[in-house]
Amino acid sequence: MERVDLIIRARYVITMSNPMVIEDGAVAVDNGLIKAVGKASEVLSQYRGEEVIDRGRHILMPGLIDAHTHTQQVLLRSFINDERLALPPIWVKLLIPFEDLLTDDLARLSSLVSVAAMAKNGITYFIEAGAPRPRELIKAINEVGVRGVVTPSTFNIRSDEVIDAEEVVHKTEELLPEVGDRVRVWCSIRQIMMVTEDLLLKLKDLCLSKGLGITYHLGEYQGEVDHALTRYGARPLEVFDRLGLTSIRPTVIAHAVYLSNRERAIVRDRGLGIAWCPTVDSLVMGQHWLPMLDDVLFGFGSDGGAFTSLDILHEVKVARTVGKALTVGLTYDKSSFNSVTMLRALTGWGGLLVGDNVGVINEGFKADLITLRLDDVRALPIYDPVESVVSLLNGHSVNDVIVGGRFVVRDGGLIGVNEVELIEKLYDVIPEVHGKLGNMA
Ligand SMILES: [Zn+2]
Repeated sequence: MERVDLIIRARYVITMSNPMVIEDGAVAVDNGLIKAVGKASEVLSQYRGEEVIDRGRHILMPGLIDAHTHTQQVLLRSFINDERLALPPIWVKLLIPFEDLLTDDLARLSSLVSVAAMAKNGITYFIEAGAPRPRELIKAINEVGVRGVVTPSTFNIRSDEVIDAEEVVHKTEELLPEVGDRVRVWCSIRQIMMVTEDLLLKLKDLCLSKGLGITYHLGEYQGEVDHALTRYGARPLEVFDRLGLTSIRPTVIAHAVYLSNRERAIVRDRGLGIAWCPTVDSLVMGQHWLPMLDDVLFGFGSDGGAFTSLDILHEVKVARTVGKALTVGLTYDKSSFNSVTMLRALTGWGGLLVGDNVGVINEGFKADLITLRLDDVRALPIYDPVESVVSLLNGHSVNDVIVGGRFVVRDGGLIGVNEVELIEKLYDVIPEVHGKLGNMA
């Protein structure tokens, strides 16, 4: 028998491949990669695991991806009430000014709380939209042990002040030595309204010359569309396309709610990814067009912990509800925007969304895996595990999180971080943060 590092047996294995579900399945993991998957009897007869764990009442599936988050906004939790939600727009009036107030220590704590919460919710891979203090985020990723795309907050127009584009691009360049197995570095763009054309072109050159991905906020605000039409004579994504930014792979566009037909054609033709944030997009921007099309690469985003509990299994339920509300309301088609599509969005379409070898349980893919408990009256019975994940289970169902073959969460508890101490630290800084917030909005 061949020796492997780890074998996990589970009642159901959702492979995101063919067959989609294996009942009484097992996965063999070696050297951080998936070595074999199949019926438990087959895997256990061919491989001897250094460690063998039996999750008899669990689903085992690929780790989840949060395609759009802000790890350094989590200390705003419960501060954003209805009046603040209506600020015109909230990111200019509250979110970016809040980021300005962060010290290194607060940014570090915020990153750690966000990344730890994501890990507990089964998120093994996330895309940061632009951290004001990215080095603090890198420390948190290494401490918790998940994978993350790190981008520095990137803009060079603020009020009437213009910052040198070279200086801004350097903030991404200087992070490149930090790239490793867990940490990826991409470029980001805060908003077309906050960048010069010169900066856009320099970011494009950096991505193309170093093979970096890019993520940007776009189509999130009507003022932004008017701004682009006034300044460039074209809508935001048409501008990016004209400047060549749409040739960057991977590209993940956050929100993309207000896209014209021509912009949507650019998304499809260029194979760009969209990070739909079901809760925040619904609250702040309205209905998303995405559920009407079935040929778009997309993932789900939390948009950060300021608004949500960073639970992407909760986001998928919001997506299913508001998505069906649109398709049923307009076409009376209740079967479209189906659960398998939503599971693909949760796991990143076999790695296509993030340009990495994740999201499928098949030989050679990275061993980023989660188990979900099926021992709870709130989620039983179970006939079809795909429907259970999409309709019933949530972050509290996550039992184990394994990244690159190593446990990050085991039996619901974080391995790399002391959660009790983290909560104590959080309570200690609440008065300081609340004081800063009091002076803001
Ligand atoms: Zn965002």
